[in-house]
Amino acid sequence: MKHHVAVLGATGAVGQRFIQLLENHPDFEVHELVASSRSAGKPYSEAAKWKLATPMPEGIRQKVVKSTEEPLESRILFSGLDSDVAGQAEEAYRAKGHIVISNSKNHRMDEDVPLVVPEINPEHLALVELQKKKYGGAIVTNPNCSTIGLVLGLAPIMELGVEHMIVSTMQAISGAGYPGIPSFDILDNVVPHIGGEEPKIEEEPNKIFGKFDGKGISPNPTRISAMVHRVPSLDGHLEAVSVKFKKTVTREDIVSRMKGFEGEPQKLNCPSAPKPAVQYFEAVDRPQTRLDRELGKGMTVSVGNLRPCSVFDWKFNLLVHNTVRGAAGGTILIAELMLRKGMI
Ligand code: NAP
Repeated sequence: MKHHVAVLGATGAVGQRFIQLLENHPDFEVHELVASSRSAGKPYSEAAKWKLATPMPEGIRQKVVKSTEEPLESRILFSGLDSDVAGQAEEAYRAKGHIVISNSKNHRMDEDVPLVVPEINPEHLALVELQKKKYGGAIVTNPNCSTIGLVLGLAPIMELGVEHMIVSTMQAISGAGYPGIPSFDILDNVVPHIGGEEPKIEEEPNKIFGKFDGKGISPNPTRISAMVHRVPSLDGHLEAVSVKFKKTVTREDIVSRMKGFEGEPQKLNCPSAPKPAVQYFEAVDRPQTRLDRELGKGMTVSVGNLRPCSVFDWKFNLLVHNTVRGAAGGTILIAELMLRKGMI
């Protein structure tokens, strides 16, 4: 039997992706939908301005949206709540015994909350048991959308000893939710600022690559400088990365690791686990946002244009689909892995 789940923030950009990706999912069935008081009490088809290129699933249209005040029957909650409300709402759900798997920034850096990319740090999920003892339920977080692309592109080469790096992002408008940035501000334009984004990309990777000792996480020490830009693409964050290694590293060291990279979700055949997790392109003009964002149904991170850096050692580009791997899809993959590890 499938596990009943609720989608929090179900009407938003991330919430809609959850509903799309959970249609006919082998493990989970959307049982409840939650959004703001503006949407609560309405059928989903009336409350949500559906913006995806596939039709709204039939079974969802008539479901009545709940508010965060109403009790939920589902134990597993996928959260795409606005960060203004996610902090308190997710804590309240945890206190009622729910397992909340969240895309919101609010609890990512809490000491007892795992910040998980399933291919990289599944062992951090052990923090869930510590939370359950303390609160009854647990919160698990998915990193920032640009962070997810960056750490998946770096994961294969971290063992080579990364000292510091600079990353510049070119981020799609869906990253700002709906309706997001006005068309007048983004058409024919690039905006070199996204509020609060740079610190997240500089801090979160070091928690994800941190060492877990059974009780807590000691952060990895790599220094990261991030520069972010909002660009007029709909989906897909492209990133330009320059890396300084602690010792001499050859092209072959990097390419061989990128090509063979996989993690626990691939070994356990999680339904959303892309194969490969990281697609390496030899071509100098790939990855490209429009051509490559759907790879692995939006779950594969692509890397290419690897070349020597005249300031650091090596530079390359990577691409992540921000609302799939960078949000809803990444969160569903966490839940699939937790299920297969007997954690839910
Ligand atoms: P969004 O399109 O603005 O959607 C926000 C959702 O939160 C809507 O369902 C909205 O419901 C609900 N909401 C707002 N105020 C609420 C309240 N007071 N009580 C209950 N629900 C409330 O935003 P989004 O882009 O989907 O992002 C959702 C979260 O995921 C954010 O925390 C964001 O930072 C994070 N995230 C987004 C992306 C991305 O690529 N978009 C990637 C990673 C993480 P109504 O429709 O009823 O207002």
